[in-house]
Formats: sequence, C-alpha cells, structure tokens
Amino acid sequence: MTPHPLAIAADDTTEGRVIVIGAGVIGLSIAWRLAQAGRRVVVLERDAAGSGASGAAAGMLAPLAEVDFVEDALIDLKRESLRRYPAFVAQLEAASGLSLDYRTEGTLAVAIDRDDAERLRHHFDHQRRLDLPVQWLTGDQARALEPFLSPSIQAAVSIPSDHQIDNRRLAQALHLAAERAGAVVIEGAHVDHVQIDGGRVRSLNARAREAPDQPLTLRAEALVVAAGCGSRAIAGLGPLSPPVRPVKGQMLSVQMPAEHVLTRVVRAPECYLVPRSDGRLLIGATSEERGFDTAVTAGGLFELLRGAYETLPVVAELDLVQTWAGLRPCSLDNDPILGHTGVEGLLMATGHYRNGILLTPVTADAVAEALLTRTTPPLIAPFSPARFL
Ligand SMILES: Cc1cc2nc3c(=O)[nH]c(=O)nc-3n(C[C@H](O)[C@H](O)[C@H](O)COP(=O)(O)OP(=O)(O)OC[C@H]3O[C@@H](n4cnc5c(N)ncnc54)[C@H](O)[C@@H]3O)c2cc1C
Repeated sequence: MTPHPLAIAADDTTEGRVIVIGAGVIGLSIAWRLAQAGRRVVVLERDAAGSGASGAAAGMLAPLAEVDFVEDALIDLKRESLRRYPAFVAQLEAASGLSLDYRTEGTLAVAIDRDDAERLRHHFDHQRRLDLPVQWLTGDQARALEPFLSPSIQAAVSIPSDHQIDNRRLAQALHLAAERAGAVVIEGAHVDHVQIDGGRVRSLNARAREAPDQPLTLRAEALVVAAGCGSRAIAGLGPLSPPVRPVKGQMLSVQMPAEHVLTRVVRAPECYLVPRSDGRLLIGATSEERGFDTAVTAGGLFELLRGAYETLPVVAELDLVQTWAGLRPCSLDNDPILGHTGVEGLLMATGHYRNGILLTPVTADAVAEALLTRTTPPLIAPFSPARFL
C-alpha cells in the first residue's frame, strides 16, 4: 500500500523545511512565493484546498468600499495589494494555465432612498477628502451605465478603481502554481498542535483524515499559521494564539441571460451584486455572529433577495444556481495578523476578515519576504501579532 503523503512528510527530516498550515488563498499564495524562492514547502490542509472562506467569497477587490472615518494603515495595505494585482494575475495565469476572470469595470455604490443618499454623500465627502478617485452620479447617470438598475435608485458613487476576480479559480490556480513550483500540498491533514521549545518552533502534530487516531510529528524549520478561522484552535501557541473568530456570510448566485443584466459590481445598502463573465450573478452577503455555524437559512436568503430585488428588480426572474455560507476570519481589531511572532520560525498570516482575496498578493509577498529575510517589511509592521500580547 502506498504510504499517505502525511506519513511521507513525517518521515522526511531534511533540514530547512517550511510548513504552512491552511490551503486557502493566503496559505497557498505564501507557499507559492516560498517555493518560487527555492524553499522546501509543505502545506497542510484539514479539508480540501480552497474550501474555506476563500471558496465562499465574492471576489471583490475593493479597497475603497468600506473606507471608514478612521484613516488607518489597512487602507494603504489594501491599495498596495490592488496595485500589485494585475502583475500577480498575469504571473499566476501563466504559471497555472487557468484564467482568473480578473475584471476591471469598477463598482457602483447605490442609494435607494433619501436616508441612503445622505449616508452615501457623507461617505463620498470623506473619500474625496482622502483624495480617493470617486465620482458622484445621479440616479439617471447610474442607470445610463447599468440600465437594469431600479428606477427608485436616487444616486450612486462610481469607484472605477475597484476590480474583481473569480476567487474559486484564484484558489485553484494558486494550488496548481504552488505545486508546479515544488510545494507539496497535503489535503485531509489536520494540524492539532505546534511544539515550541527554547524560543523557537520545532515541529507540529497532525492527523490524516484516513487515520484520525494516529497523530504524526512533522519537523519544521519555520511554520506559517494561515488557517483562517481555524487558527485559534491550533494548540501549543500559548499567548500567541491568534484572536480570530468566524463571522458568517451567506450568499447565493443566479444565472443571467445571454445579455448580462449587470456589467460591474453594485453595492446597495442591503446587499452587493457581483456579475461573473460566465453569466452567474453573485448576491451577498449576510454578516452574522454564529460561531462555526455554516447553515444557509431562509431568513438570510430572504434578506439578500429583498435587497437585490430593490436594487435590480430583474433578479426575481433569474434562475437560482447555488446558495452557500462561509466564515470570515476576523481578529479582535478587524485587521489582519501578519509576520513574525517573536518565537523564532513562527509566523502568522491570518485574520483577513472581509479583505483576504484583495490582500492576497501583498500578504504573499510580504510574509514570504519576512520569512526569507528574517525582517519585517514596513507595509505589514502595523499588523504584527505582537499587538495582541
Ligand atoms: C461570504 C464571504 C464573502 C467574502 N467576500 C470577499 C470579497 O469580496 N473580497 C475579499 O477580499 N474578501 C472577501 N471575503 C473574505 C475572504 O474570503 C477571506 O478573508 C479569505 O478567504 C481568507 O483566506 P484564508 O486563506 O486566510 O482563509 P481560508 O480560505 O478559510 O483558508 C484557511 C484554511 O485553513 C484550513 N485549516 C483550518 N484549521 C486547520 C488545521 N488545524 N489544520 C489544517 N488546516 C486547517 C481550513 O480548512 C481552510 O481551508 C469574503 C468572505 C466571505 C465568507
């Protein structure tokens, strides 16, 4: 019988190996970068690669959509990641042979009633003060761009610099590219425990899905915790255990007719609508504090469909394709947790909350650089795991 890949990895005691925990877009992209740099990398994923938040997301690359009134380092990180996206996509498409449906039509944030319009105006004024590239539109101007928008839409803000990507293909492409660059991705491998000894990381314990009562020990020179919502449950991290909790998001998709009823992302007060090139229209997303529950509920779908109908009435006539729910990994201060931990060889890349797809290129580059150079790139310094100690 061929040994399980996890058993093979456990038998391998060659020095210098990096283990990444979690095969979402964050873990896979870091693994890809490290493998490209010539490091021996193993990725351990308890389920299937891309099956966590990365497969549940909407794929909006929208650094300006939720700019609030606290000007913080996160907006710089998000904008820098978007700036890196075109080159990242070109490289990843070439490495994987997959098309990622990267689209650059921009976003329209719409207001349906007068209260929404007031809020949108307030937000718009703030974005302008920050010199962000946004434009105010009347309802008619918005409908000239997207004719199927509801006649009740009062006003809109155009954000041409927002982009989008098919996040499921992104995860698939990263999986392929990481393996082609030499990384070993082992699915069905649950990490239970990390061993830290003498101020440095030594090894971890993991179990294969096929043999859950036979824990195996894998030695590692460095470890990257990229386990999304699962990061906190990994034992052995002590006070470094990342304070990440799940925030549930339900979504659904409908099928547009051959003539697509929407060309760009629309953000409405109660939902957002994301058109894909293959004709699917994604409608998301709820935001719920329900622990690790991923049930799709009638109430959740009702809220989304009501919001979608108010924004784009034709939605009511479209065929339902799929419903799903995912868990956003949210930290105590909503910002990601990135880089060195103070324990030698132990790095974090988790807590990306609503922006993990957007933040993938910059996270991959910066966390790989931190590991390879043993320094902290200035862009991720504000997101140090040490801020929670
Ligand atoms: C409904 C919804 C909509 C979203 N929309 C957007 C959007 O439009 N734009 C955007 O930028 N972001 C969006 N996000 C957020 C984005 O999806 C996440 O921030 C991002 O996917 C996080 O990636 P990750 O790799 O850290 O986590 P995940 O994709 O969850 O990957 C972590 C992986 O670790 C594995 N794992 C966990 N514990 C262990 C363990 N002990 N051992 C081994 N493996 C383990 C999990 O199985 C999982 O596959 C959305 C999220 C949701 C839920």
